Amino acid sequence: MNKYIVSLLLTANLLLVQFCFSSELNTYQTKPFTVVLDAGHGGHDPGNLGGGFKEKEIALDIVLKVGEILKKSPNIKVVYTRKDDSFVDLYVRGKIANDAQADLFVSVHCNAHNSSAHGTETFVLGLHANKRNFEVAKKENSVIYLEEDYEVNYAAYDINSPESFIGLTMMQEEFLDQSVFLAKAIQDNFTSNLNRVNRGVKQAGFIVLHQTFMPSVLIETGFLTYKPEGTYLNSKKGKGDMAESIANAVKKYKTHLEENVGVDFSSEVSDHGQTDTSNQTASVVEPGVSFRVQIAAGSKAVETKSYNFKGLDPISREKEGSVFRYYYGETTSYEQVQQMRQNAISKGYKSSFIVAFKNGEKVKVQSVLKSN
Ligand SMILES: [Zn+2]
Repeated sequence: MNKYIVSLLLTANLLLVQFCFSSELNTYQTKPFTVVLDAGHGGHDPGNLGGGFKEKEIALDIVLKVGEILKKSPNIKVVYTRKDDSFVDLYVRGKIANDAQADLFVSVHCNAHNSSAHGTETFVLGLHANKRNFEVAKKENSVIYLEEDYEVNYAAYDINSPESFIGLTMMQEEFLDQSVFLAKAIQDNFTSNLNRVNRGVKQAGFIVLHQTFMPSVLIETGFLTYKPEGTYLNSKKGKGDMAESIANAVKKYKTHLEENVGVDFSSEVSDHGQTDTSNQTASVVEPGVSFRVQIAAGSKAVETKSYNFKGLDPISREKEGSVFRYYYGETTSYEQVQQMRQNAISKGYKSSFIVAFKNGEKVKVQSVLKSN
């Protein structure tokens, strides 16, 4: 693992992702959590055929199983990019997810290599950190050559050049933290529940991930070219195991979001055995605390000029590990930071969230708020 990935993982561990949907709480609760499940390849694109196994079939079986499990969960909606052996263009897969206004995009694949390489790895969109990551992305990206009009639809990409970085838009950078959280949860499940070899959370320039505007991951469930792994992945048990691990990671992600949604004073306070607080709107903030709105995070150092951030001002940037985080505003008032967040949302930073600092250290928002 190189330094960048290590620091990414550390960052994921340290993340305090607080999603505060206060004023949107009602809509949030009624809108189902939508997961787009994307089985790689299909139709005249078989994917890799390592060991005589078919990537397109294994990916589809796993994805359908993930969907079956998730559908049993309350308030989860599942959308598939394909439910059968059909060919779907990469950009159409992204469009399906964007049109569904999905909360997550999960793409499932199988790896191949002319060595005895084996194990699972989960990718988020980013720089090809090394040659190996580039090769995985290149292989998966090369399916565009099987599409009609690929020259037109993918003119912006040069998939043969490791130097040609598929640039992230700020909108996608925003989702990096969330994507890494999910990727890590998936890898953790594969490793601790299924004893799969852990190749880690990685970044590379996958076109399919570049097309979506929501937290997105691409899972390489294992190497079909490594006989024991190919046999496992092709078995009913293997597919079922993998699906369960993926579904559980998605549920963990959803719970993580919900636990950090808004600051619901009624539930917060009832934990402490206090009386009815449903009429409370104001909050008392501990001394030494300030709030900012995190609007984006990513690997690039973007200048903190308001024109780079849709006119929001002031913008501050902090580097944690190798990830830059971008914050809008700073205030000691919780009411004010909520307004700031609404402002950020109205400018298009829909997944922005409130971050609290106590004496310069990032802390959980709920931990610094006390009821009146
Ligand atoms: Zn694939």
